[in-house]
Amino acid sequence: MSGLAFLGGTPIRRPRPWAQWPQYDDATEQELLAALRSRRWAVSWPTDGTQSRERRFAAEFARYNDVNYCASVDHGSSALVVALEALDIGPGDEVIVPVMTWVAPVTSVLRVGALPIVVDVDPETGCVTPEAIRAATTERTKAAIVVHLACTVADLDGIREVTEEAGISLIEDCAQAHGARWRGRNVGTFGALGVFSFQVGKVLAGGEGGAVITSDPALYRRAEQLRADSRRYADVDPPAGGEELVEAGEVMGGNYCMSELTAGVLLDQLPRLAGQHEHREKSAAVLEAGLAELGDFSAIPLPEAADARSIYEYGIRFRPGTFGAVPVGKVAEAIGAELGMALWPPDLPLHRSVMFHPHTKRRFASVWTEEGRQRSLGREYPGAEQYRETTLIFHHKALLGDASDMADIVAAVEKVRDHHEELR
Ligand SMILES: *Cc1c(COP(=O)(O)O)cnc(C)c1O
Repeated sequence: MSGLAFLGGTPIRRPRPWAQWPQYDDATEQELLAALRSRRWAVSWPTDGTQSRERRFAAEFARYNDVNYCASVDHGSSALVVALEALDIGPGDEVIVPVMTWVAPVTSVLRVGALPIVVDVDPETGCVTPEAIRAATTERTKAAIVVHLACTVADLDGIREVTEEAGISLIEDCAQAHGARWRGRNVGTFGALGVFSFQVGKVLAGGEGGAVITSDPALYRRAEQLRADSRRYADVDPPAGGEELVEAGEVMGGNYCMSELTAGVLLDQLPRLAGQHEHREKSAAVLEAGLAELGDFSAIPLPEAADARSIYEYGIRFRPGTFGAVPVGKVAEAIGAELGMALWPPDLPLHRSVMFHPHTKRRFASVWTEEGRQRSLGREYPGAEQYRETTLIFHHKALLGDASDMADIVAAVEKVRDHHEELR
């Protein structure tokens, strides 16, 4: 009888490649070469008589989200900083952030000198709840950063109700949710600003990159300058050899501009996104039918008002006890060994993450005082802990394969469930 591959048994999947990420072809190479040969490697370099690629990408991405304004930036992390600075958030202010997320939403708040108030999440979705935001709001609260996590969407109706009632700004972190929709509109358009990352693993990949979207012209005007050392696009396009950016100086900026080479890649990738979403959903339907037959397992739920999700990391939820007392990390490794593919539990909640140590940066010392630390993290996070203990995650690239790949995943999950006693 064949035991678990993790313990030296025969794996479920014969060695066979998974779909790769990122995806590119000749057209990508042509875009990148054209950017190279233009010698216009940065927006802050004389034009060849055409608009910069980062500006054209911003226009395309605004159109994709059906929103008026978009500013390209160099990272999703910078997009968060620019969004907070556009709202004039700084020392003395508090910003509510979820405990279950990448570290950037929290560090961005510290980077502008404000205090991140880290709150618990829904145990089913890993997303921040309206109740958690309401409970953490004080007279110092200026904004809430909401993360649409992994492959679902936070409860935007409830969250908007709370933020509007409290008079605080909403920033949607859509780094994991490009193209997800809520009541017929793209996420990122429900708050004051939406922020995105185009880091290579995200569903829209540029290597490193980010964007800020908004429908507010005043916020856009600030965001433009905040990311380009106080410069903004000239009102009239310059002739060849002229400068596209002019020194506006209405607000002190930093340099968070996107490279033209990155923008070339993104101009190639954006038109592929809708087809990739479709491909992933087709695979997910096969996977979910297989998991439903097993019992014990389900997809991370999507609220009814969300009419489309964006699968960045696919999450399989399992009933507590399905794998006995075997820790979720070991379960993930055992399933991964059957498949020759990486699976993992969600990242540790931030209060337990080694990535979150503000005291190691001197410039955070005035915010990260004993009182600040207590206000920020002085609570329990049972929702996050439960989410982490009952969820298995894998990267969206696996869904760009075919139905037999999905059958392998279901078979591996079933095998490890049925043999989990061997892992004790
Ligand atoms: C990836 C990510 C970011 C940071 O984006 P970078 O481009 O890597 O700086 C921010 N928030 C969330 C939720 C992310 O997943």
